[in-house]
Amino acid sequence: IKWTEGRGWHDAQLVPYAPLSIDPANMTLHYAQTIFEGLKAYQQPDGTVATFRPDANATRFQASARRLAMPELPVETFIAACDALVTQDRAWVPAHGEQSLYLRPFMFATEVGLGVRPANEYLFVVIASPAGAYFPGGVKPVSVWLSEEYVRAAPGGTGAAKAGGNYAASLVAQAQAAEKGCDQVVWLDAIERRWIEEMGGMNLYFVYRTGDAVRIVTPELSGSLLPGITRASLLKIGEDLGYGFEEGRISVDDWKNGNADGSLTEVFACGTAAVITPVGSVKSARANWTVGDGQPGEITMKLRKALLDIQTGATPDTHNWMHPLA
Ligand code: PMP
Repeated sequence: IKWTEGRGWHDAQLVPYAPLSIDPANMTLHYAQTIFEGLKAYQQPDGTVATFRPDANATRFQASARRLAMPELPVETFIAACDALVTQDRAWVPAHGEQSLYLRPFMFATEVGLGVRPANEYLFVVIASPAGAYFPGGVKPVSVWLSEEYVRAAPGGTGAAKAGGNYAASLVAQAQAAEKGCDQVVWLDAIERRWIEEMGGMNLYFVYRTGDAVRIVTPELSGSLLPGITRASLLKIGEDLGYGFEEGRISVDDWKNGNADGSLTEVFACGTAAVITPVGSVKSARANWTVGDGQPGEITMKLRKALLDIQTGATPDTHNWMHPLA
């Protein structure tokens, strides 16, 4: 779907996958006005297909567009575009369990010119690809690298938007994590380099236990971390399961001390791609430690199952999150 200044959205097309041709002076190549989303379509037990919370993705896409000075796509248009593609690619929706059809809606400037200002033409596109189960051999905890040298996002920046530039800025730390033998980066706040923000492509949750009491804390939306849809969904599922869920601030020292005194029993990350991933160990320039016993925690696995059961239709969708295709 195209957008042109003065004309708005026009020319929606469903076409076979093919390369796009780009002018060398296309403004996106120079000034990175590009935003995206990620969501999944799951086969349901009755043979129909449903996407998970596309309205939430559409709303976040609008927020990202506003931050990048791009036009907002109506929520209904975003959902209709995803629906049209899933219907066309129905044969590519995997039939079983955690497998899905991953959808990648994105938008970028198509105006040709070298002036630094919001473009006057954009293209919105959705592509799709089948996605296997994230952990085909069973859930495996990830190791994380606490990045103290680089920051992903700063107050007033684009961290809360799903903008391509945020990911470009994170690649050097991701490479550093790999060098240190870690799977993922954990980002800290830009000012104090003390507060836990999020992981490279997932939000984080910390599980504390005192006797029988369970308290589950996720870093509050600081303005520089992505408001994950999985994160928001888990806050609701936590209420359903009767856990005390909170949004708060967690420092690196809280994490280290909670591990040392045994009150912090589990840490997990959540996002569309992996749903829920346990965090098994942490490394930083100054310290290394194991989270809990280093194995997937009981509450982590319970929440993972509760969410996946909704997505795959194994349990009733009491929150009305699944969007069935006509
Ligand atoms: N943080 C970042 C930086 C991400 O890229 C993602 C993936 N979209 C998330 C968190 C998790 O968001 P969601 O649950 O909406 O997939």
